Amino acid sequence: MTTPQRARFAEDALSRRATKVMTRGNTRSTLFVPPAPPYAVRGEGAHIVDQLGGRVIDANNNYTSLIHGHAHPRITAAVAEVVGSGTAFGLPTEQEVELAELLSARTGQERWRFSNSGTEAVMTAVRAARSYTGRGILIRFEGSYHGTSDAVVSRTAPGITAGVRSDVVVLPQGNVEAFDEVIAEHGDRVAAVLIDLMPNRAGLVPADPAFVEHIREATRAVGALMIVDEVISLRLSLGGLAAEYGADPDLITAGKIIGGGFPIGAVGGRADVLAVFDPLADTSVGWGGTFSANPVSMTAGRVAMQLFDAEAVQRLNGAGDRLRESLLAAGVAVTGRGSLMRLREPGEPADLWWAAYERGVMIGTNGLISLSTAMTEQDLATIERSIVKAAEQGRR
Ligand code: PMP
Repeated sequence: MTTPQRARFAEDALSRRATKVMTRGNTRSTLFVPPAPPYAVRGEGAHIVDQLGGRVIDANNNYTSLIHGHAHPRITAAVAEVVGSGTAFGLPTEQEVELAELLSARTGQERWRFSNSGTEAVMTAVRAARSYTGRGILIRFEGSYHGTSDAVVSRTAPGITAGVRSDVVVLPQGNVEAFDEVIAEHGDRVAAVLIDLMPNRAGLVPADPAFVEHIREATRAVGALMIVDEVISLRLSLGGLAAEYGADPDLITAGKIIGGGFPIGAVGGRADVLAVFDPLADTSVGWGGTFSANPVSMTAGRVAMQLFDAEAVQRLNGAGDRLRESLLAAGVAVTGRGSLMRLREPGEPADLWWAAYERGVMIGTNGLISLSTAMTEQDLATIERSIVKAAEQGRR
């Protein structure tokens, strides 16, 4: 429904300019809300300002990546310093070693490599598993988003070939029988099982620990690898959800918060698996990326992760738990864990998005709410009030 408030954004000069050069006026499909999205002008801690001068609380945080909100002074200072001495080199830098050391200490994964997005990290982790095992099949689960590489988008998506379809099996998450059936039939052709322990598009419902353990045992039994996609879930616990589950995966993928607001992706895992990227090996998997491991992303990520210490993780998860409980008590349908939640209200997601935006809170176009350490108690109270009202409006 296009209300006068929403129409103001579609009629705005910037929006008109944008649609002349870009289909629907922007790059990322996930940012589009009809009739036209607001454009961000600046970010200040927990807030953003749009092109019409509106100021809202950012409860989206660039789809969970801005763990400290916008322009955290410690991150901007570190970035300013590193930018002044060169932003990218045709040589490795100490900054990537530092971030790899930090991630290794936190997650327990022995070796790391960096990319510019979670999409690339997942794509390359899958290739690593295929190279390591010499097998082709990837098993993954319905309702999990792993970026936009061929193997992880819908098998029926336009542009996906029959070859890709035949190498990918998609199963309902948590269904042991369906999983065992595929393993029994094709186990010796399975390269990897890819799982998100709290899949966003499946509604942010945490995976059943018994199912996760079952996958670990089954993959070991048939010689396949287990890849845990921690691109979103790493923020939920100091060492990530895989460590908390005791899942002991062969590879994990990371992204979002580990870039401190800058482009990033990463694969971590066992040394012998990451050895598939060894440039001195007879055959090795290439890892490219002109801007992979650039010192800006590496520095911002390191500082952001240092600030997100055990106490900060716990505090933010506590704030999320309290917010979710209050929303549930007020009759709002919401799932999630810690600092991440997903509204499960009936109706058009875009209407809920606008209803929240018009009450001063920006959520994800998919109903995602992601907290940042920049939010005050007052911000959290505003989020609660606005979401309760937005959900009530949707039910009317
Ligand atoms: N995996 C998961 C679990 C994700 O949530 C995302 C992004 N939302 C990706 C992979 C892809 O990351 P990126 O958007 O950085 O390519």
